[in-house]
Amino acid sequence: MAAATALLAAAPPDAPALRLRGIVKRFPGIVANDGVDFEAAAGEVHALLGENGAGKSTLSSILTGLYQADEGTIELYGQPVRFRSPREALDAGVAMVHQHFRLVGPLTVAENVVLGDPRPAGARLLLRGRAIEAAVRELALRYDLDVDPRARVWQLSVGEQQRVEILKALYRQARVLILDEPTAVLTPQEAEALFVTVRAMAAEGRTVVFISHKLREVAAVADRVTVLRAGKVVAAVDMADTSPEGLAALMVGREAGAVAARAGAWAGAAVVEPVLELRDLWVEGDRGLPAVRGVSLAVRPGEIVAIAGVAGNGQRELAEAVAGMRPLRQGEVRAGGQRLRGGNARAAIAGGIAYIPEDRLGTGVAPSLPVSANLILKGYRSGDFSHGPLLWPRRVRVFAQALVERYQVRVAGIDTPARQLSGGNLQKVVLAREFSGEPRMLVAASPTRGLDVAAIETVHGYLRDAAARGLGVLLISEDLDEILTLAHRVTVLYEGALVGELDAATATPEEIGLLMAGGAAT
Ligand code: ADP
Ligand code: MG
Repeated sequence: MAAATALLAAAPPDAPALRLRGIVKRFPGIVANDGVDFEAAAGEVHALLGENGAGKSTLSSILTGLYQADEGTIELYGQPVRFRSPREALDAGVAMVHQHFRLVGPLTVAENVVLGDPRPAGARLLLRGRAIEAAVRELALRYDLDVDPRARVWQLSVGEQQRVEILKALYRQARVLILDEPTAVLTPQEAEALFVTVRAMAAEGRTVVFISHKLREVAAVADRVTVLRAGKVVAAVDMADTSPEGLAALMVGREAGAVAARAGAWAGAAVVEPVLELRDLWVEGDRGLPAVRGVSLAVRPGEIVAIAGVAGNGQRELAEAVAGMRPLRQGEVRAGGQRLRGGNARAAIAGGIAYIPEDRLGTGVAPSLPVSANLILKGYRSGDFSHGPLLWPRRVRVFAQALVERYQVRVAGIDTPARQLSGGNLQKVVLAREFSGEPRMLVAASPTRGLDVAAIETVHGYLRDAAARGLGVLLISEDLDEILTLAHRVTVLYEGALVGELDAATATPEEIGLLMAGGAAT
């Protein structure tokens, strides 16, 4: 606190509240922040906008002392600072509003707010019981934070817990507050209320760094915006000088016409019976909230339908529901004209649905089992390999060896544990296994994420071949190049609902990007 006041007193009048220069942060295999410059003034809500993986959270971790930058400098009110821990950042007046709340459940809101107050014990002694409550109530009122200081934290909703985290930062007199995707855990109404609080904090001269990948909320709350893409700043502009289309294009980073080869419109006629049909599908996420909201969609034989969207908009839940790995709350999954039993993976497999999950090492393969076992994992044609509980090892070996050769899996041998394979070879194992079940429909979730260029080409080749052989393909991806090269039809998933459908032959990355960021009216 004293330090924060001292910084303010010493501040040159024209210095911004916060100035980052040339911030570089490397992780193995990736430069998460690649020479980032960032400036925000006192009294400003400054949005840090970018797609998933752009480097936003890394930058906020550096700013709050959680990570150390490899290169670059930070200045607060013109004074160079270097934070070796979140505690040091907090002492200088820079606070993170945490997403994974660090509150103590059995204590009251007021007790949580003053807990860990760095002020000397003498000052704290003056604030006891009702006095603490009164102080917290006053803060809550001032910033429109609807929460009862006397409530026990374990009784609070997620939105209320977030308000307590904000109160903690305000109580510590933070001058710079960082909120990293704060609306991810909120209802739309709670998000609206948060924006009011954010504006109130800025109106008092604080700086709010508002991190988001959602255009609509950035437009609603920010004065200025810095757009990050692949670790680099691509723009820093006043909100007044931007348009949603312009921001979407900056985030996504492509010009119209930059996409080379395209699958173009699908030639098949609409009269063909769909291989997969979703009817008003509602699915819950892990937190019990609706993650998929009323999705209806049909995929016909030979057709590649893409679902574009920023990760976290219901893609995983949708894919899992279609693959029978997650129960349906409402609606139907139909394959080949038959309604499938919801939440039943065997029913999905029997219905001809193969699934390439996005987390290859999690649900995609069993890492400690050998490649051979992974190739028969799902029990496709289990009759070929087993008789009762007994596996026929020789048949497994012959089958596995043939698949390894056909799919050119680079591996020492079929007894090698799956975890030793590179990402590309692991994906080939998953594809080989899924195709060997002779499916009619393929659900591929981010099938090339994390793969090198050669492996991406191979996987794309398999998907194209599958469609050419008459399989339906549902391609869930964040990669617009991938979508526009492979798909016949593009839909966009935003906050669990399909918000648009475009013909891949004519769709532009801007159009798709805008829908992905929730920029269009829904
Ligand atoms: P954003 O918040 O914009 O989604 P992040 O800053 O979380 O992006 O991530 C940027 C990139 O750095 C991603 O490719 C991510 O996988 C990588 N990354 C982030 N944190 C780590 C870490 N602790 N170790 C390795 N890689 C990381
Ligand atoms: Mg992030």
